[in-house]
Amino acid sequence: MTSLTVDQNGLVPPGLCPNCHLHTGFSLRSSDFSTYVWPHVQTEPPSVEHQLKFGVRTWLRQILARCGSCARTVVLHQLIRFHEDGKTGEVLRVIQAWPERRPRELHTSVPDAVRDLFAEGARAEVAEAYRAAGAMYRAAVEELCKDLGAEGNGLARKIDDLVNRGVAREIVEDLHEARILGNWSLHDGLEFSAEEVADVADLIAEAIHILYVQPEERRAMRDARKARRDAFAAGKP
Ligand SMILES: [Zn+2]
Repeated sequence: MTSLTVDQNGLVPPGLCPNCHLHTGFSLRSSDFSTYVWPHVQTEPPSVEHQLKFGVRTWLRQILARCGSCARTVVLHQLIRFHEDGKTGEVLRVIQAWPERRPRELHTSVPDAVRDLFAEGARAEVAEAYRAAGAMYRAAVEELCKDLGAEGNGLARKIDDLVNRGVAREIVEDLHEARILGNWSLHDGLEFSAEEVADVADLIAEAIHILYVQPEERRAMRDARKARRDAFAAGKP
């Protein structure tokens, strides 16, 4: 757990926005919306006297923050351990109180095996288990290659083979990114930042949208057009 320094004005560390799903910076809406809620409800930071009175140096602060990307509000709970001076301290943990952080999900037109692995990666991502998330996202890419009938020795060759199955070069490059992150997670035990994992999840989701969701939407529109034409033809004398 990385600890961040908090001063009297407070500091909101960057995080994953539950509304726009981007890893972004948050700003305090107004100091009026910042309150210490435990062990005592008060607006001012706990002084040395307060810390002695309540017998704890770690306080819970509730703040209303604004997302730097979508500008919507999130309620965060910060666990702060104050230093002896009663002015500075470290943010030990930031918990998102509202809205609930929900794992990413793929469209229902995506094959279940791919969706399940991706969903497992997404749950790991929300739980901040980034190494596990990287490994599961890689597994989702592997399953996607299988579904598209890609052949080759090892995942890298399989991803390359997608070009022969009508997948654009750009998407292939993105899928390699996911593979590399997964390899580093699995074999080298590297830890990744929330942002790196979020980037890869976005790349996979985008590739899957183009490969599965768009063709499905086009098919639905084609069917609707055909149904309209058929109805028109049937109505003719
Ligand atoms: Zn946002």
